[in-house]
Order: sequence, then structure tokens, then C-alpha cells
Amino acid sequence: MRKIHMVDLKSQYEKIQSEIDSAVLDVIRSTQYINGPEVKHFQKDLEDYLGIRHVIPCANGTDALQVAMMALDLRPGDEVITTSFTFVATVEVIALLGLTPVLVDVLPDTFNIDPEAVRKAITPKTKAIVPVHLFGQCVHMEPLMEIAEEKGLFIIEDNAQAIGADYIFPDGRRKKAGTLGHIGCTSFFPSKNLGCYGDGGAIFTDDGELASRMRVIVNHGMEVRYYHDSIGVNSRLDSIQAAILRVKLRHLDAYAEARRKASTVYDKAFQGHPGITIPARSEFSTHVFHQYTLKTKGIDRFKLQEFLNQREVPAMVYYPVPMHMQKAYRDARYREGDFPVSEALSQAVISLPMHTELDNEQLAHIAGAVLDFFKQ
Ligand SMILES: *Cc1c(COP(=O)(O)O)cnc(C)c1O
Repeated sequence: MRKIHMVDLKSQYEKIQSEIDSAVLDVIRSTQYINGPEVKHFQKDLEDYLGIRHVIPCANGTDALQVAMMALDLRPGDEVITTSFTFVATVEVIALLGLTPVLVDVLPDTFNIDPEAVRKAITPKTKAIVPVHLFGQCVHMEPLMEIAEEKGLFIIEDNAQAIGADYIFPDGRRKKAGTLGHIGCTSFFPSKNLGCYGDGGAIFTDDGELASRMRVIVNHGMEVRYYHDSIGVNSRLDSIQAAILRVKLRHLDAYAEARRKASTVYDKAFQGHPGITIPARSEFSTHVFHQYTLKTKGIDRFKLQEFLNQREVPAMVYYPVPMHMQKAYRDARYREGDFPVSEALSQAVISLPMHTELDNEQLAHIAGAVLDFFKQ
């Protein structure tokens, strides 16, 4: 059996090696390493793929979120509502900009932000909502968009984990994840569904004015060279990464399909098991399986993780500590017990290897090892 990895970037690269190598070499020979034509081409390709008017490439997903928030002209003390069950970047940039992160709980089936809880968390200081499409599946966006419209709030989608997923409206109409709110943000970190070979990120919007503002912000607040009208940052996607992303974007839908195929094998193995709940599929989103995350019952999943590791099966816990219980974000407003769903999930979840290169032998081995743990 081939060695099992949490994410197998080597096998994936080997399948597209000639495309990648020639794209990278072309950039090296062009010497246009920063803001070269590949960046513009990738920007256009991604706009077409997402069906959105403006894509602004940047240095990473965290910057994407930060730049989006900078563009909204929020003031210190303004409140931004987001989820307590996410990767830290979402909350980090809110705090870093002097804004107040207001956390709310998630739904126990999809792990995604609870729209009802969002409504209850709104105060006169609320300015924006940051839903995170966790593990590859869209947040239920329509209730959030209704709330945002009613209260005049911005929605910034953290789409670092769900690029390529479709949001499905009740009438069957579809829109790409990250293109429903005012601004969408994504990451091209190597292990993400559309990953480059270093750091990268992008911001998307249909709003031309926001787009121009964000283009200025990522470039030191500069529109005319060496004239700075606002405070910006330096956040660029480099040309080599853009060239790699152009190649991989052409494979993104096939990659999502490979992930879904692996998920079906896992589902079949675990369906109906009393100690395991398989990932819920929501009716308003396709799932691109950034992670395949099980909820366990009646076990210590760190013991399961150890057991799997002994059988050469990597497994990870995303995320072991909800945001309101992290030392850095512990806040007088929050205490243990405030977000019971996030807290219970952080004790119960475990993610199995999920990537584009898993074969049936590997999947059977992984599933068998999980089931064996419960037989002890
Ligand atoms: C990965 C990730 C980010 C940050 O992206 P980077 O490119 O690593 O900065 C933000 N939010 C979520 C939910 C993520 O998974």
C-alpha cells in the first residue's frame, strides 16, 4: 500500500508535473516575478470560474480577510460577528484591527455558524458578519443576507476551505461559495482545495468601488506610484504561485470530485455506527470536503488518533479549542459553557486523511483501522 498522508501533495504534483514545471519555468525565464502577466491571467481565470466581476490576488488568506475589513472603513469598537468554531485567522484579523470580535455558536450537524445566533448577537455597534464555510460546505447564507440587508451590515465570507463549492438556492439556482456576500476571501495555502506551492490568497467582490479600494490597500495604499492616499499593506501573490494556480484551477472540479468519491467510501464504512457520525450534507450546498470530519461518541478521540497513527494512518483534530476558550481571545464577555455546541464539537471531532489522491486500498485501510478501534 502507498503511504497514507493527511494531504498528498507529492502524488498530486506528479500527475500534473509537466504542466506545472513548464508554467514555473516560463515565469523564471520571464523574470517578471512580481505582478507579472501570470498574476493578471490567473485573476481573470478565477473571475471566470467563480462568476464574479473582481478578484484581487493577495499574499495569503489571512491578509485577504484583513484587507476586506480595512476596505469597509470600520472603526475601533465596531463589532464583527463570527463563529467560535473556526481557524484562528478569522478572529485574529478582527482583533488586530481594533474591532471587537463577537462570537456565536455553530450548528451541530454542519459545524457552520448558526444564523439564529447571529441575529441574537446583533447590537447597534455591529458592522459586519464573517461566516466561515467550514470544512468545504457553505453556511446557510440566505438568513444571513436577510439579516445583513435589514440591519445594513456587510458580509465577508471566509471561503478558505470551500473554494469550488456551490451554494444552492431553493429554486435550484447555484452560485459559487464566496460570491454571495459583499466580499469573499480565500487562501491558497498548499493544503487548501486550491493550493499553491507557498503562500497565496485572494479577495472577490462584485462591487467595483470596494474592488478598487482593496486593490489600493494591498499595494501600500498607493494608486499613483509613490503617492499614498490611505494606509495600506504589502500583500501580493507572486507570479510563480499564480502560474501554479492557473494550472491547478483547471483541475479544481476534478479534485473536488475525487474528494467526494473518497467521502462516499468513508460514509459507507461508518454509516449507522453507534460511535461515529458521518459529516452531514446540507441541502443548500455542495460539499468539496476540505476535511472529512467525524463526530465521535463515548471515546477519547486523541486515543483514536494515537491508535490510527500506530497503523500508519494520520488523523487531525480540527479544532481542539473553540475561539472563546483560547488564551489570546479569552474575554470577560465569554466563559466556558457559553457556546455548548462548539465546546462539544471540539471534544468530539476527528478528521481523516482527505485529498485528491486516495485510492481504494488506502481508504479501506483507514476505515478498517477506525472501526477496529471501536472493537477493542
Ligand atoms: C487557512 C485558513 C485561513 C487563513 O489562510 P492563510 O492563507 O493560511 O493565511 C483563514 N480562514 C480559514 C477558515 C482557514 O482555513
